[in-house]
Amino acid sequence: MAVATHCPYCALQCGMHLRVAGERVSIERRDFPTNRGGLCQKGWTAAELLDSPERLRTPLARDRRDAPLRPVGWDEALERVVTGIRDAQRSGRDRVAVFGGGGLTNEKAYLLGKFARVALRTPNIDYNGRFCMSSAAAAGNRAFGVDRGLPFPLSDIPAADAILLVGSNAAETMPPFMQWIAAQRQRGGSLIVVDPRRTPTARNATLHLQVTPGTDLALVNALLHIAITTGGVDADYVAERTTGFADVRRAVAAYWPERVEAITGVTVAEQRAAVELLARASTAMVLTARGAEQHAKGTDTVSALINLALALGLPGRPGSGYGCLTGQGNGQGGREHGQKADQLPGYRRIDDPAARAHVAHVWGIDPDELPAAGRSAYELLSSLGTADGPRALLVVGSNVAVSAPNASRVRDRLAALDFLAVSDIVLSETAALADVVLPTTQWAEEGGTMTNLEGRVLLRSQAVAPPPGVRSDLEVISELARRLNAPGTWPTDAEAVFDELRTASAGGIADYSGISYERIAAEDGVFWPCPSSDHPGTPRLFADAFATPDGQARFVAVEHRPAAEDLDATYPVYFTTGRVLAQYQSGAQTRRVRALREAADEAFVEIHPDLAGRLDVIDGDRVRVVSRRGEAVAPVRITDTIRADTVFMPFHWGDAGCANLVTHDALDPTSRMPEFKVCAVRVEAVA
Ligand code: SF4
Repeated sequence: MAVATHCPYCALQCGMHLRVAGERVSIERRDFPTNRGGLCQKGWTAAELLDSPERLRTPLARDRRDAPLRPVGWDEALERVVTGIRDAQRSGRDRVAVFGGGGLTNEKAYLLGKFARVALRTPNIDYNGRFCMSSAAAAGNRAFGVDRGLPFPLSDIPAADAILLVGSNAAETMPPFMQWIAAQRQRGGSLIVVDPRRTPTARNATLHLQVTPGTDLALVNALLHIAITTGGVDADYVAERTTGFADVRRAVAAYWPERVEAITGVTVAEQRAAVELLARASTAMVLTARGAEQHAKGTDTVSALINLALALGLPGRPGSGYGCLTGQGNGQGGREHGQKADQLPGYRRIDDPAARAHVAHVWGIDPDELPAAGRSAYELLSSLGTADGPRALLVVGSNVAVSAPNASRVRDRLAALDFLAVSDIVLSETAALADVVLPTTQWAEEGGTMTNLEGRVLLRSQAVAPPPGVRSDLEVISELARRLNAPGTWPTDAEAVFDELRTASAGGIADYSGISYERIAAEDGVFWPCPSSDHPGTPRLFADAFATPDGQARFVAVEHRPAAEDLDATYPVYFTTGRVLAQYQSGAQTRRVRALREAADEAFVEIHPDLAGRLDVIDGDRVRVVSRRGEAVAPVRITDTIRADTVFMPFHWGDAGCANLVTHDALDPTSRMPEFKVCAVRVEAVA
């Protein structure tokens, strides 16, 4: 039997078949529109997750903080969670918090958001997708009135004559995506990559702009400056489809290429070459990823890129536009249905009275009972156990002890809680700190929908029975709601939850009301918005109008500013982070897969030969990377593909090589995205 499903990892959500023969589960090619049969090493090896010896198969609990975790029955585990919640609630409903994940299905994200608002009546729910693409979401909302990663299908990419790709190493993070770029290049299209590292993606580009970390915004304002002064602006498009260009033109007037060369390290000639490639293309795309977004000015940086795209007349035109390459498997859907502190299902705002009334009606409560917006992800984590912060936390499918910035502070805050419960498939670094651990079903053991980077809603079908002793997150949330005497209905069947989600999303920006499991299976996914069962879905947005009140896209004038932490004599090197081919996010899943462990079994520090010479280290020597917040230790990889003033670490490990022990927790004022991508460090050889 072969079951059509999708990879458990990134936002490309590659289609695959799972063939089940007795105990053996193998992965086979599936010709799905996003990946056309392609999978990366993570996808091909994903079946090993299903029978990992490290898989949790029974709830765990500890009797005291300093006691070891011991196996317990489900009834005891759930009662412990209810007691932990009730004890914390004696000081106020907001003393209980929920932290979700961008890998959860839409159904789980929806039910978790409902659980926080209806069963717990707490405003404090957010998720690790805040760390993923919230800056692009905020910039998309303020320019277009909607946030959907790509407003067009992946299959449009080959039609772009030029692509500006900022802060994405897709060749390693989502290799099957590169077939679309390859097709674009085969057509004669050009690719401009902006990245401090000459990554495998950058190596294949027409032009690589090796920018100083934290200076993308200045660079992009200079590109727009050049486009304006060289006649590259599409004046008709700007006049007919946008507002606010005059302010942006004034703002970028100060971004002389020579001045920006001094800020960014990108030469005037390179800047001009990039603009020439973009401006002479009849179709072009601007695509961003975490490199542009994970900064304390990430929203403004993406706004600068959207300004450039609008000035060139791209969004809404065939083969053209602006888009964000979402990272996590359901980073998109995870925030559309209520898992984010300020949102209700259907991408509704929690401070909108009409949205509150609609969702409260679906949930069978009074709108006044719905909490207000809560704290954003890092603010929530850093408030745990403080005088006015949450005393109890439920984490579902997230490994914040590894994935949050300034990880040692986050671990301290987790330790300061009165009660921590974690639901996961393995004993992640975060689960290992919990008072109660709830073992749940994963991926192929359960059904559910995901929304990929194109806004395509996909069906992940159950292919195998879960091991005895584990329960689905839907069952856990529903049972906790029942034990807490929550009002309303709490279905445990994924399709029943999806049907409720459809009703809750109806009329919202992300309207799923016309999408059904049957349609998803029959149509290779359905693009939102899809407001009725006879609506075809919306693969392309903005052809006629933007989702703003007047239908016009909005330019937003933005200014470059330095990173939260600049170099000085004590911390003279930039530090940046990212991913490697064989690992995914905090590594909680992929570190448990043998082939992936063998391919990438520990962190490393990528440094330039000049810095290696000054430190007197050779490949494989261990170095200590020290910031004002902490330090990480890992072997060096010496390469001239990185800038001489910058070091890079992947962030998939939680031990001494945990890159987030070093990263900065400065937040973007709009998106509340932490500044993962740049801080100041010193590097020391370890004796
Ligand atoms: Fe596809 Fe991403 Fe899975 Fe790789 S990790 S197979 S790119 S969905």
